[in-house]
Amino acid sequence: MADIYVFMGPPGAGKGSMGELFCGETGVVHVSTGDLLRAEMAAGSELGMQVKELIAKGQLVSDDIVAAMVEKRLGQKDIREHGCLLDGFPRTVPQAEVLDGILSKLGHRMAAVLLIEADEEMLVKRMTSRRMCSNKDCGAIYNILSLPPKTEGICDRCGQKLYQRADDSEETARNRMTVYQKQTAPLIDFYSRKGQLVRTVSDDSGIDACYQRLRRVLHMA
Ligand code: AMP
Repeated sequence: MADIYVFMGPPGAGKGSMGELFCGETGVVHVSTGDLLRAEMAAGSELGMQVKELIAKGQLVSDDIVAAMVEKRLGQKDIREHGCLLDGFPRTVPQAEVLDGILSKLGHRMAAVLLIEADEEMLVKRMTSRRMCSNKDCGAIYNILSLPPKTEGICDRCGQKLYQRADDSEETARNRMTVYQKQTAPLIDFYSRKGQLVRTVSDDSGIDACYQRLRRVLHMA
């Protein structure tokens, strides 16, 4: 039985960055539905073409598409052996219901659902200054204000070029916030009622301080 963790929270709250630290420390496999969809777009697959416009506008991809992607991934050997962190999934109540079914079918256990809360204006600023490594095997995330690379536009870790996500423009970032409030925030109630929700806060104190807070609520410290 593998342990499954869910990190949820508004866009830019640090699900990806803190997820990377969490997985590095615990050995749990990091699965980001946003990363899986961006890889499809980069590969120019049919699925990638299908979702490109929605993602660029900050809207959600259909529940069926992401649920099928997650179900396939959760059945793979590395996750059966090491467990998994779901970053960016579920994002709607129907997705959470499907996830419950997938977990019982595959015999996995929901270890915790972590809600990362944050101030909206800080998040918009954080998203518009976010930069990503273009090497998908590296996946490093920078911020030109708070965590800049040593050389502008180049990843410290692997030397590849950094890029700005198409959906990190201010207009799309604000739209993603609205989508979060409408479609994802109802999950807070869904998981609170099941007694599975724990909360932490992401603020301007820096990734290390935020991550230490996260460790404490997950009883890792
Ligand atoms: P993220 O990298 O998690 O911010 O996701 C980027 C974009 O991918 C989102 O704005 C959505 O358009 C799409 N996406 C990622 N995960 C999901 C999901 N669970 N359900 C629907 N759309 C998603």
